[in-house]
Amino acid sequence: MSDRPFEIREDLRAIPAYRAPQADAAIRLNTNESPWPPPKEFAAELAQRLRSIDLNRYPDREARALREGLGARHGWPMSGTWAANGSNEIIQTLLLTFGGPGRSVLLFEPTYAMHSHIAHVTLATVVRKDIPEPWTLDVTTVYSAVSFDPPALTFICSPNNPTGNAHPLSVVEAALEAGPGLVVVDEAYGEFGGESARALLDKYERLVVIRSFSKSWRLAGARIGYMLAHPWLIDAIQVARLPYHLSALTQAAGEVALKHAQVVLDGVAEIVAERDRLSKELERVPGVEVFHSDANFILFRTPVDGSSLWKQLADNGVLVRDFSQVIPRALRVTVGTGNQNADFVETLRSVLAHGA
Ligand SMILES: *Cc1c(COP(=O)(O)O)cnc(C)c1O
Repeated sequence: MSDRPFEIREDLRAIPAYRAPQADAAIRLNTNESPWPPPKEFAAELAQRLRSIDLNRYPDREARALREGLGARHGWPMSGTWAANGSNEIIQTLLLTFGGPGRSVLLFEPTYAMHSHIAHVTLATVVRKDIPEPWTLDVTTVYSAVSFDPPALTFICSPNNPTGNAHPLSVVEAALEAGPGLVVVDEAYGEFGGESARALLDKYERLVVIRSFSKSWRLAGARIGYMLAHPWLIDAIQVARLPYHLSALTQAAGEVALKHAQVVLDGVAEIVAERDRLSKELERVPGVEVFHSDANFILFRTPVDGSSLWKQLADNGVLVRDFSQVIPRALRVTVGTGNQNADFVETLRSVLAHGA
């Protein structure tokens, strides 16, 4: 089966690696990045900062300047913030510290595949609760799922990927009230919509709020994510993080982005407006069913087979994400520029009209 000279862990052989296609397409709307690079002011200052970094020295292990900025941004102490190489590393560090063998992780599906993936790799028991369409979590569902067999960690993704909808804060509270474990709210798309669980941090010591610079901050290439939580929790995860995990280059990028937060984030309002316009446009395409989105992407369903539709769109230069393995006949499109969105709708319309 395998042509590896030496086999990997048995429990990992059956699970696929994360491999969203990174094909060269004219219109790339498949990984929820920003269609625009960060602004010139940011790039200019970052270039200058990079010249003055002592690369012969290890970076600040605590990433203090960056965390000061993150704390200030959220009105939360620096000691209650932590930054890493993308929010995926935050997720991994939390799972390494609080999950692991003999502990369980509760997920509400369909949701972000990396939550269960990293939980598996770090040897936790994954407990999935399937949520029916339109995938809005409610207090009763969450409370009973958590209290039935209290997990070490409960993940709530809001706005949720790939469905797009945000969940009410009441479900986060329900999860916290129902069991003794951590509740991790993944807000990778939090700037585009929904209520932030930041509002609950004062009240709950076992709450973690995760955010990312990869989407709204237009910095997917820089790999920066962070968390807000009570200081005891930041302290606790130090045992599992790697020394000097966040390079001086990455820290500088984050610090400069925070300094220019207003300009870096000024694309968010435009993306939100485009998202609502794109939803309406998609609804006008015959046979297409559009799900409500609070994020920078839209999940939609068509009458035809998802994989072949995906392939036909790709053949026509439009890359979207195929979710038909998870939600039959569903695809997810990232909101791009006005022109990209229009080209996508046009291509979809013509592919569907001529039979996928
Ligand atoms: C994109 C995404 C992330 C971001 O991961 P990074 O490692 O910060 O790039 C995290 N969570 C969800 C739900 C996402 O969709």
